[in-house]
Order: sequence, then C-alpha cells, then structure tokens
Amino acid sequence: MKGTYNPPMGRSRRYLAAALTGPQVLAFMPALSLGAFWFGGEAWLLATALGLPALYALVGSFSQTAEDEAAALGGNPECAAHALDHAIQNAARDRKATACLVVAMDGADHLRRNYGGDILDTVTERCLSRLPGVLRQGDQVFAVADEETAIALAPVPRLDLETVIQLSARVQSALEEPVSVDATAVSSSWSVGFCLGSRNPGDDGADLLQAARAALADARRNGPSAIRAHTGTQPAPATVASDLCNEAAQGLEAGQFRPWFQPQLCTDTGRVSGFEALARWQHPVQGIIPPAVFLPVLEKSGNLERLAHEILRQSMEAIKHWDREEVKVPRVAVNLSAAELSNPTLADRVAWELDRFDVSPGRLTLEVLETVVVPSGSDVVTRNINALADLGCTIDLDDFGTGHASIASLRRFKVSRIKIDRSFVAGVDRDAKQQRMITAILTMADQLGLDALAEGVETTGEHAVLAQLGCRHVQGFGIARPMPLDQTADWVRHHERKLGQPTGIGRATG
Ligand code: C2E
Ligand code: CA
Ligand code: CA
Repeated sequence: MKGTYNPPMGRSRRYLAAALTGPQVLAFMPALSLGAFWFGGEAWLLATALGLPALYALVGSFSQTAEDEAAALGGNPECAAHALDHAIQNAARDRKATACLVVAMDGADHLRRNYGGDILDTVTERCLSRLPGVLRQGDQVFAVADEETAIALAPVPRLDLETVIQLSARVQSALEEPVSVDATAVSSSWSVGFCLGSRNPGDDGADLLQAARAALADARRNGPSAIRAHTGTQPAPATVASDLCNEAAQGLEAGQFRPWFQPQLCTDTGRVSGFEALARWQHPVQGIIPPAVFLPVLEKSGNLERLAHEILRQSMEAIKHWDREEVKVPRVAVNLSAAELSNPTLADRVAWELDRFDVSPGRLTLEVLETVVVPSGSDVVTRNINALADLGCTIDLDDFGTGHASIASLRRFKVSRIKIDRSFVAGVDRDAKQQRMITAILTMADQLGLDALAEGVETTGEHAVLAQLGCRHVQGFGIARPMPLDQTADWVRHHERKLGQPTGIGRATG
C-alpha cells in the first residue's frame, strides 16, 4: 500500500465516525446487552452479546495498528501531529529520519472566481488524490486546515535536504498536472513547505508540523509554485495591502518592470566585460521608479521572485539581442535577493532558463549580497550558490566590505569575484587611506584566487588609480549610467571606436 490519503472532511463528522466505528464502542457492551434484554428478551440479549464483538472482529476493527489508527483518524492537525509523533519516535529508535511536508494550492480564489466553488473542490480533490502515487509505503497524508495538506514521511535510513527537495518537486509536479473537468483542462499551481525531522525546532510532531506550515507560508509569500525548507528565520506572514503593493503586482503582470543595463569594463583591455541588469519600474504615471522605492514594496507583497523571473528572462533576451547585433558582451550579471536565494528550486530554474534561451552558463553572473550570504549560514543558500557555480555561472559577491565576510566564509561559497563597494572607491585617487583599503582588499582577493570589480566609479581619476592598483574590472557612472536595452548595442559600438583612439582610458591604464 502506498501513502494513505485522508480526504478532508468536517471535524465533527470525523470524530463522530471514529467514535461510532472504533473498538471503544465495546465499552458500552453491558449497557447495550441490558437494553436488548429489556426490550427484546433473551434472544436479543444473546444476539447483542455475541453478535457485536463478532461483527467488529469480522470488519477488522480490533486489528488496527497505531499507524492505521493515525491514518484512519486523519483530517486534522492533531492527527497529523500524532502520526508525526510516531514517526519521530520510530526514527529515533531505529536511527532513521523523517520529515513533514505541507502543500497548498496557490490562488484558489482565482480558480473559484473563474470556475466556481464546486469545480475548485473537484480540482483540489483530484490533485490531492494523486499524492499516494508519488509517496512511499507508510507515508501518510492529512488535511490539516481548509487549504493545507500535510504529509508525514515514514522514517527511512537516509533523508537529507537534497532528497526532500527532490521529493517536494515530485509532489508538486504530480499536484500541478492539469485536471480535466467537463472536457476543460484546469491547471493549478501548488506551493510546498517542509521541515526535516533533524531540523525540528521543538521535539514533537506538533512542532514539526508547525515548522513545515511556517515554511509553506513562506513559500506562498514567494509563490506561485514555490518550495521552501524550514529555516528557523521565517518571518511572520506579511499583511501588507497598500495601493502601491497592488499597483506593483499589476505592473509586473503588465510588463512594466524591465532591467536597465550598466556596463562593466576590464581594466586590462578597456573592453566591455559585461553588463549588470538593474531593475526599473516604468510606471505609467510616475515615470521611472528606482529599486530603492519598489524593492521593499515587492518584498512586502511577496513579489520579489516574480521580479527575479522577469529580470532573468529579459537578461537572457538581452544576451540574444547583443549576439544578433554582433556586439561583444561576454556576460550579463543579475542580482539575486535573499528570497530567491532561499528557494531550493533556484538553480534548476536558472538552468532551465539558460537551456530555454540556449545561453551558455558562463555568460550569466549572479550577484549575491555579502550581507545576505555570509551571516545566513542557511544550507539552502549555500547549496544554491554552489549549485549555480557548478552549473558554470559565475558568482559575484556584491557590496563587498559592507557586511562581515570572513575569509573562511568566502571559502565556503564558490564565489569568483568580489564587487568592492562604492564606499571604498569614492575619492581613491585623492585619499591615501582609501588607497590602502583598496590595496588590502585586492591583496586578500588575490590570495583567495578571486577576481575584483570596483563599483560606483564616478571619475576618470578613480578609474585610472583602480586600474593601476590592479583592480581588473570597473563599473560606475564615470563609465556609463544604466541604460535601456535598446541603447546598449550603440553604446558598445561607440565605446569600441573610442578604444581604437590613443586616449582610451582602458589602454592608457591597462
Ligand atoms: P547594486 O547591485 O549595488 O547596484 C548598483 C547601484 O549603484 C545601482 O543602483 C546603480 O545605478 C548605482 N550606481 C552605479 N554606478 C554608480 C556610481 O558611479 N555612483 C553612484 N552613486 N551609484 C552608482 P540602482 O539601479 O538604483 O540599484 C540599487 C540596488 O537595487 C542595487 O544595488 C541592487 O542591490 C538592487 N537591485 C537592482 N536591480 C535589482 C534586481 O533586479 N533584483 C534585486 N534583487 N535587486 C536589484
Ligand atoms: Ca549588484
Ligand atoms: Ca553593489
């Protein structure tokens, strides 16, 4: 038997059913026998006294195991917690591991509006009924809340983060298969949150369930179709409903968010080594809105990942555009937020986009903030960064010097370049202290085998000194401000022409 699915049903109905069919009914045997004798005489007494136990034995109500009991009672958080208690105890006894997954459909309201409540129920029921097909024997499924369904995994010898992420992705794909209702294929998307038994913030099943539900809440904030592991740092659900939040969400739908591109130069050759994609909101009334304004709004409304999808997709299109225009742009750099870095499916999604656009991974740089990466200590973040590096993408550590990256932590991540924050760069051509700082950072980077890029380079003086100090890449207003995609090819051509002239700063300083 595969995983047991306990479809959602009313709590009182469930308890009534359990009360009437459980072996505890036999506690009423003496009273029932007496009543039978009273009303029906000796024959009824005999029939009740012998018949009832025989009937129970026949339908197997005496032979329930603890697991069956948990499964049969399923359908509320207590039952799920109870099953998880068993799983945790058995895992500890047999040196095995367990985990709890919780799934929920994204945008059920949208489905209800489009198709009606009955269809929503049918779709939910049919999607959930596929769960046993992707689970193993002994795994149990419980409806824990109106929209949430928990899966208690039967203990197994090995269960690490990787395995549960893969299982979550399998569960998610099974749930997301379209359902055919009245000859219409209805699609739904589902989010998954999970907590490994080894990461249980408490010690019993209820704690494990609670942690998995918190991870699901995090996934739903970042969804649709997100998977999240319990990290212990999940914030309380955000309830922000300002006009700007709604406008930003609509703006995302309407394609109002676009990356602008700022060139990065190699100081050895003076040539363009890449463009950084910087998001801009082209607001229909307010004009261009910068990230400092809209990023907090998107974060609060849980739309940061949707922005990331857009920017990544449009950055892939930009690479294709440069290739078609025959301008040499080796790579594009995309910024990753903390939310994206916590998504276990990040590396797969990036791989999929690269594949879809037929772009080699070496042409994509991912920028991760020092302040996000280093203190997090989260294994999902570490795993993501290293998986992206293994894919062949380069990783830039953004705003270097503003966080507390230690040399040890830099070694933990497969970072290829540090981006020295503008605060160290400003006035480097005039300020000896700044020069000493930059020299120290460059020496450290060199010792670690890391490349370096100085950001916020505003003057030719700063550019020249950085090149002399051995900083191999520069970016900043002194070279160019971020620009829309359609201006980039002309800018590169113009820059290449300037390089051919004897006064080009790249040549002079390189
Ligand atoms: P960042 O990644 O450090 O990006 C560099 C910021 O410095 C950009 O601001 C850029 O326009 C600005 N800048 C470039 N050269 C100079 C200069 O010479 N002087 C000065 N003073 N500033 C310069 P922007 O575009 O406003 O972006 C601000 C921040 O917003 C970015 O900082 C990045 O952390 C974030 N951001 C931008 N786009 C995205 C995105 O698509 N996703 C995420 N997660 N974050 C983004
Ligand atoms: Ca950046
Ligand atoms: Ca930066």
